[in-house]
Amino acid sequence: MTDVVKTINVFALTQKRETPYLGDLREGEHPNKQGYLVRKGNRTVYPIFDRSILVRIETSGGVVGWGETYGIVAPGAVAAIINDLLAGFTIGRDPSDPSAIYDDLYDLMRVRGYTGGFYVDALAAIDIALWDIAGRQADRSIADLLGGAKSDTIKAYLSGLPGPTLKARGEIASFWQDKGFDSFKFATPVADNGPARELEHLRAVLGPDARIAADMHWNQSAQQAIDLIAAMEPHGLWFAEAPVRTEDIAGLEQVCRCIETPIAVGEEWRTPFHMQHRIDRCQIAIAQPEMGHKGITNFLRIGALAAEHNLQIIPHATIGGGIFLAASLVVSSTLDNVSCHEFQHSIFEPNRALIEGNMECENGFYTPPAGPGLGVVPSKKALGLLQPL
Ligand code: MG
Repeated sequence: MTDVVKTINVFALTQKRETPYLGDLREGEHPNKQGYLVRKGNRTVYPIFDRSILVRIETSGGVVGWGETYGIVAPGAVAAIINDLLAGFTIGRDPSDPSAIYDDLYDLMRVRGYTGGFYVDALAAIDIALWDIAGRQADRSIADLLGGAKSDTIKAYLSGLPGPTLKARGEIASFWQDKGFDSFKFATPVADNGPARELEHLRAVLGPDARIAADMHWNQSAQQAIDLIAAMEPHGLWFAEAPVRTEDIAGLEQVCRCIETPIAVGEEWRTPFHMQHRIDRCQIAIAQPEMGHKGITNFLRIGALAAEHNLQIIPHATIGGGIFLAASLVVSSTLDNVSCHEFQHSIFEPNRALIEGNMECENGFYTPPAGPGLGVVPSKKALGLLQPL
């Protein structure tokens, strides 16, 4: 008898943070009663805690798979989409071909324009769980299902310097350089003395050989971005990320045309369509897929599109409990054009206890998990923190 999807359960996984994401709060930044605050530097909302959404799928044969997506705000939105709509069209399906299920679920709301946002986040969580099941049913890792890992490790870059002053941020970077990292990224919205001064200081601290990138958080017009990048370039800029507002494809085209520094974008894309619209027009150098938004199915499709257009892939890593990061590393290990992977120490280190499995990041290299499916499961600690949605 075919082993089919029997149940789907959705949970919030919430953890306290010691230091707020992006570092200490600046003047005028206060959490509201939901625990959400707006960063003045990019006008974007962040929770004061870490939260993601976990999806547990079990088959009629008792195989369990886990998926995960964003839950930083409005976790009930994704839960409602899954519980009210997607579960009913996933239960009873054969999970051995997750991409076919993904496409069927995507089609359900396509005509109404639900081609991104929370809807596609919900799909990503289900997709990761179905791939986990497909691997466990075959008693093979997802990497093996995809033709095998190309290497045992993936180079990591240190992202996020959550210090209150330029000096403190330099000390964090230096601490991680001593631990074996040679590649770094800072966030311009919390570069209080300006991006050029931030990079100048980090360059002085880290030396001429360190690679240093700037995440510009979609916060500029094209001309503002060009000016800021030009001011940073004399200090050696590895890549400039998200230079213009996400909808501003013409602006992105202009930035790519006018500057030499490689441009990196893509964490917020959900589907290959979002990528296609941009690479048709813009000379992007690096695509930064985020597994938590894309799921394995679309991460692979974006990887293939990047290869076709000779783009490097440097995947994004964000607030999560380790499940979508594991998926990102396992799939990245199978792709030829992944040159590096983001490592957010302020998430990975405290949240490492939320998974069981051998996923590590040491000496500037990740070791992707091994074993059937994703190679990781939520730990006892994580299971104790789950709240059903
Ligand atoms: Mg970013």
